[in-house]
Amino acid sequence: MADQGVEGVTADGNLPASVVMKLAAGVFMVSSLLVVSAELLAPGSASRFATVVTGAGALVSGVVIWVLPWGRWPRALTLWLVPFTFAIIGFDYRLAAGNGFIYAITFLMIFAWLGLAQPRGMSLKFAPLLVVAYIVPLLAGPVGRSDLGLASAVYVIPCCVMVGEAVAWGLALLARSESTLAETRALNANVFEQAPMGIGLSSMEGVLIRVNRAYADILGYRPEDLEGMSQGEVAHPDDREENAAHIQSVICGDADSYSLETRCLHADGHVLWLSVGASCIRDRSGEPIYMIGQIEDVTERRALREQLAHAAVHDQLTGLPNRSMFMERLNLMLVRAERGGRQVALMFLDLDRFKLINDGLGHDAGDRLLLRVAGRLEGALRPGDLLARFGGDEFTALCEVETEAEALEVAERLKAPLDQPLAESNHEQFVSLSIGIALSGRGGMSATSLLRNADVAMYRAKDVGPARVAIYREDDELPRLHTLKTSNELHRALERQEFELHYQPVVDLRDLGLVGMEALVRWQHPVRGLLAPGEFISLAEECGLIVPLGTWVMREACRQAAVWAAERAKELQDNGRLNISINVSAQQLADPQFPDLVAGAIEDSGFWADHVWLEITEGAILSDPVAVVGVLGRIRELGVHFSIDDFGTGYSSLSYLKQLPVETLKIDRSFVDQVDQDPDDMAIVRAVIALGDSLGLSVIAEGIERPGQAAQLTSLGCHLAQGFLYGRPISPAAIGLFPGDDLAEWMGSADLTSA
Ligand code: C2E
Ligand code: MG
Ligand code: MG
Repeated sequence: MADQGVEGVTADGNLPASVVMKLAAGVFMVSSLLVVSAELLAPGSASRFATVVTGAGALVSGVVIWVLPWGRWPRALTLWLVPFTFAIIGFDYRLAAGNGFIYAITFLMIFAWLGLAQPRGMSLKFAPLLVVAYIVPLLAGPVGRSDLGLASAVYVIPCCVMVGEAVAWGLALLARSESTLAETRALNANVFEQAPMGIGLSSMEGVLIRVNRAYADILGYRPEDLEGMSQGEVAHPDDREENAAHIQSVICGDADSYSLETRCLHADGHVLWLSVGASCIRDRSGEPIYMIGQIEDVTERRALREQLAHAAVHDQLTGLPNRSMFMERLNLMLVRAERGGRQVALMFLDLDRFKLINDGLGHDAGDRLLLRVAGRLEGALRPGDLLARFGGDEFTALCEVETEAEALEVAERLKAPLDQPLAESNHEQFVSLSIGIALSGRGGMSATSLLRNADVAMYRAKDVGPARVAIYREDDELPRLHTLKTSNELHRALERQEFELHYQPVVDLRDLGLVGMEALVRWQHPVRGLLAPGEFISLAEECGLIVPLGTWVMREACRQAAVWAAERAKELQDNGRLNISINVSAQQLADPQFPDLVAGAIEDSGFWADHVWLEITEGAILSDPVAVVGVLGRIRELGVHFSIDDFGTGYSSLSYLKQLPVETLKIDRSFVDQVDQDPDDMAIVRAVIALGDSLGLSVIAEGIERPGQAAQLTSLGCHLAQGFLYGRPISPAAIGLFPGDDLAEWMGSADLTSA
């Protein structure tokens, strides 16, 4: 049936034609039976034969109507039955001895049938025909035999129409609600089926009742195969208990739902990681009746996550733990060993002459060698010990030991496998290890100190020859070789951007306001921690690295100054510019590119050249005064200012001082230190201030730590100062976005007791 929306009722709200016609057939048969029995039972009936014939005719009609294939024909055809039925009823009435009850009831039945079979309004359309069909037999009937007066038409006819309409209306209502229900069901079924995520419904015992296609696909089954299976059958045996505990917690009402990542077995047997979210469906009384769960295959995502997590803490080349994992384990082991009364031995293992191999045979050969060395070292480890690659050709080992002798034993074990040469394709490669050991002692020690000690010990081992083992002693000094190592590290530090700038305020002693800041470089050394310039500047000068380092300092300081200036301009509504002082070494000044570097750094940063102060030392001027005068002149043309740093410690030639475009002298800390106590220092400071006055130079006092020094300097006429009293050099992160005029940013750093 094309127009059938829901089983039983058509889309327009009526019963299908075949069903209705069967009802009509029933009406025929029942009415014929009633007519015949009424006639036969009526005393003195005259026309029994005719009645039986008519009844039989109606019966036969009923049977015919019953069997005809109404469903295939247009429904309008069924309407022809109505006048036909009216005629039969009229005829029946005549024969049924005028039984009014049967007469009226059959009309009602016809209209009920009309309501069932036809849309609303059809009963109304048939009303005129009904009037005729009802009244004509009454008029034509034998007077006195009729129990039914004409007046009954007034009740029966509207009743018939109302019944017909009411039935049609009721059916339409039913159809509408059924179709809404069906639509909702279809939608739900669609959502369930089409959801990209696996969804499954199971009993509280864990038996799968219904699963969607995605659910089945994830597990490699057909949906019908899974239905009826227990969830336990697909869960990984090791995870079943945990899953059951979660389900139990939901059943008990401890949780409304749960989610977890768990393992399942695919139909072909391989293990899957699923992300599962499940909750419980309860009946009205709150009793749990079903579990509904959604699953997602996260096997790949998880593998990737594990891969990333592994890569984050492992060295790519050797697969050994890397520096960060090593540090984490070191800290853990230190705590554990301290609790257990044992000590931690940290060993630095450095391949001897690795640089020669790497440079001579190439990086690939170097990598291969490292890989094989790592393999051999790993094989020599005791259970529980840890080997890591710290970087380059440096490995570290970590073990818990009772005694120093035990640590030495471990070191020998690690060295032993390298006694055998490593076979390369066409030659044999001999390699050896130098090992430095540091012991934490039973009292415990910080990880950084332990690392530093092992580092020092390793350089002592290297110092005495290849393939040596050395244990750190308290009186160990950093060996000379360390310098070599540091120069390599300096190169790497530049590449890895391990340098940072800290800033110290320059203040006006009269109002303690911020005048500018001096940029002071620091090296965030991976092992030794934050290093002051004293530990690496002269080395950087020695190995020619001061120029790239100084260039970086220049660019970074200008960039930072521009950022601060922008923030201050917003807040203070003036140009917000602070002076930025940058230290410059002699080699930088000697570089013919230097003026261009300065100009480039300032231009790229967007900062103002006339707020940049370059600090040069007297030594730098003396190295080649004529050239320096030229270079400084070119830079001064940019607007940049110069000051002479550590003034008084060198041998400044006053004549050059006059020729140089210098505007400020910074009195060295060594004179300021006792300026309030030592008359000689006071005399020197007074002389420098006088010199400055006569040459038209301003003077900044460095290294003020006590209010007494400040008071003395002010009384001597020096108004600009720098020192821990006003603020230590601190990082831009500590200073923040906006260095205010009141030095609040440096407050904490000025506390000398925390130095
Ligand atoms: P400097 O330019 O004379 O910088 C002042 C030094 O004195 C800084 O040491 C600073 O921390 C320290 N200082 C400041 N106030 C006080 C104080 O009240 N008491 C004491 N005891 N010290 C104070 P730092 O940062 O260690 O720098 C040392 C030197 O390294 C600098 O001396 C400078 O000559 C050089 N330097 C720093 N950064 C650079 C740079 O980027 N390039 C070059 N070429 N040299 C730099
Ligand atoms: Mg300086
Ligand atoms: Mg200085």
